[in-house]
Amino acid sequence: MATQKWVAIKQEWCNLVEQDVELMELRVYPDDVIPGPQEYKVTARKCSVDVTCNMAGFPCKWAYTNPELDPFVERERERNE
Ligand code: SF4
Repeated sequence: MATQKWVAIKQEWCNLVEQDVELMELRVYPDDVIPGPQEYKVTARKCSVDVTCNMAGFPCKWAYTNPELDPFVERERERNE
């Protein structure tokens, strides 16, 4: 049976909650691990504060409340303007 594990891949500042949060990915490791960089598959991504933001109703794709709004993409867009 495959093993699943949430792994923090990046820490980012979120303007909506005004704090650092972690972006995480769900890695699935097969039973027969073959050495090399492709030894797992990423099957999902989330934010470490997603449940709190979902309950608060923040519009954000990471909180599953608005698939069109990603605060990190918005911030990058603002930086480049
Ligand atoms: S779920 Fe969205 S709004 Fe909440 S902290 Fe994460 S990125 Fe920010």
